[in-house]
Order: sequence, then structure tokens, then C-alpha cells
Amino acid sequence: MVNKMSEDYNVERLERTVKLEEIRNKFITPVKTEHDCRKCRCHGNNWTCPPFEENQNDIWEKYENIKIIMEKYDFTKKFLEEETTSEELMEYAFDLIHGKKKEIEPELYRLEDELNGEFLTSGPCVNCSVCQRSLGKNCIIPEKRKYAMESLGADVVGIAREYFNLDLDWICGNRKAKYLIMMVSVLY
Ligand code: SF4
Repeated sequence: MVNKMSEDYNVERLERTVKLEEIRNKFITPVKTEHDCRKCRCHGNNWTCPPFEENQNDIWEKYENIKIIMEKYDFTKKFLEEETTSEELMEYAFDLIHGKKKEIEPELYRLEDELNGEFLTSGPCVNCSVCQRSLGKNCIIPEKRKYAMESLGADVVGIAREYFNLDLDWICGNRKAKYLIMMVSVLY
């Protein structure tokens, strides 16, 4: 059973700023994303997930630069040796990433203002306990709705490898990943 998150990992923060054109040319693959996203329960059930009613991918054309922030959560030996079920592990990973995403949001809002840009987050919007899209209703807080880089077609695996020299690790059943990452960015 896992529960005490902050004792379970060490955090490393990495940043890179690059020309958005480079990302557009090498790492934006909306067709592949739409296809991959179909496996997820959020597909068509969250307003920040594909399929989109408008062309959200236009955002990659609007700005010149991208500041990429990646946090890497390296799990401790003790945590990796604890037994967990695959369900517990998935819940743990969801809580970890969404908790971290909320933690970094004030900084991202500040950077949006400073750089006159727009930030992209990680994972689906969790502002509401149940997204209104899954109930067939319109978004109720559109001004706070933020899209994930990956939902808009960014190849996060490729970006992590190219700019941070990191091959991502994955949870597979009840096999823990040695580390997980959260990648967010500000376009400006
Ligand atoms: S703000 Fe609520 S309704 Fe809108 S996308 Fe987020 S979770 Fe869905």
C-alpha cells in the first residue's frame, strides 16, 4: 500500500527554452495523438482532451518560443520495493501528477503574465470532480481550462529525449516506474 508521497521520491527540476518552430517541425503529431488518446477514459469525456470541436492545435502557430519545465520524480529504493496492486499504482500516479500540476500552477500563471504567453499543462483538466463533457454539458469554468501539451499533439517522449536526454519510464501493471515526470510549458 502506498500513501506518503513526499517521502517516496526526490524531485529534480529541469528547464529549456527553445524556438517553437523546432518543436512544431519535430514533435507535434496531432493525428497520432488523437489515435493514442482513444485508449484513455478521458477521450471525448473531458473538454481538454481530443476530439476537439475547434482546432486547438492552432496554438502551436501563435507563438515564437516555448519554455519547457520538466519535473522528474525519482522514487526511493524503499518505495520501489513496496508491493502494490496495479490499481493502487495508477491511483498513486494520478494523484502525484495532478497534485504537482496544481502546485506549479501559480508559477505558470505568473509566467503567462510576464511573458505575455499561454501555458500548457499535463494531463486532463481536473477543475471539476466530474468534467461536464462526460455529462453532455458545456465547460463551466472555461477561463480556467488549460490544455495538456500531449493532448494538443506534443510528443512528450521525444521532447524529453531531445532536450533533457531522458528516456521515460512507465508503470506496467504492478511494475513500478523508477521515475515519473510532469512536463508543462509556457508558449510566448
Ligand atoms: S473546468 Fe470543469 S467542465 Fe471545464 S474542462 Fe475542466 S473539468 Fe471539464
